[in-house]
Amino acid sequence: MNIILLGPPGAGKGTQAQRIQDSHHMIQLSTGDMLRAAVEAGTEVGLKAKAFMESGGLVPDEVVIGIISERIDQPDCKDGFILDGFPRTSAQAEALDKMLEEKSLKLNAVIEMKVEDEVLADRVAGRYSCAKCGAGYHDTFLQPKVDGVCDSCGSTEFKRRADDNRETVISRLEAYHAQTAPLLPYYEGKGVLRSIDGMASIDEVTKQINHVLSAL
Ligand code: ADP
Ligand code: ADP
Ligand code: ZN
Repeated sequence: MNIILLGPPGAGKGTQAQRIQDSHHMIQLSTGDMLRAAVEAGTEVGLKAKAFMESGGLVPDEVVIGIISERIDQPDCKDGFILDGFPRTSAQAEALDKMLEEKSLKLNAVIEMKVEDEVLADRVAGRYSCAKCGAGYHDTFLQPKVDGVCDSCGSTEFKRRADDNRETVISRLEAYHAQTAPLLPYYEGKGVLRSIDGMASIDEVTKQINHVLSAL
């Protein structure tokens, strides 16, 4: 099964993708994570992407399309993947259609996580993750069971993203509404769009997604 999680920054895509990855043996493909790794490693892709990411704008289409196309060819994607943060523009959606066709792969569903703009800044500003295993947390909404210790791996080191501040969130939300939201009617037209209430609690959202997946 291959799916897309679609929603604004802070909607809960990464949080839910991690859970689906564990429960359904599908691979989470986060273009944001891949780009951050490239920036950190100082690769050519990273050098191209850095300034766009810092400003809260989108990285050029050809860069992310190239990354995803290569990643989908890896053997671990055979059992299914969860696209988290891709596609984000019409050009990316069209390129994805083309690459899936060429690789004889199917897109089973696009799950829209509906969240009101008002709550997104708080979600993004409080976000952090385990520096060792990447498990996601939030200052208020999702704290580790033992203060300062990662639930998943026991590490005591955590990190925050450089772009998770209130100023950048405004640009990222603008980019979402202008460039990514038009994908909703695109996928609705293809009959694959499923919308869920991303304002609900994290566990409740997981239930809704599992419900969608079990009906596919
Ligand atoms: P995205 O990948 O869509 O940008 P994340 O999954 O990283 O979003 O979630 C953003 C932040 O909000 C994280 O700190 C996460 O713990 C928290 N979060 C995710 N889903 C919910 C939810 N349903 N309710 C409250 N907080 C949430
Ligand atoms: P969030 O889940 O908070 O929206 P991501 O981790 O998905 O954040 O993305 C962080 C940044 O990486 C984006 O603001 C953008 O600059 C870049 N990026 C990630 N995915 C894409 C994409 N598909 N197209 C263009 N830029 C992207
Ligand atoms: Zn951890």
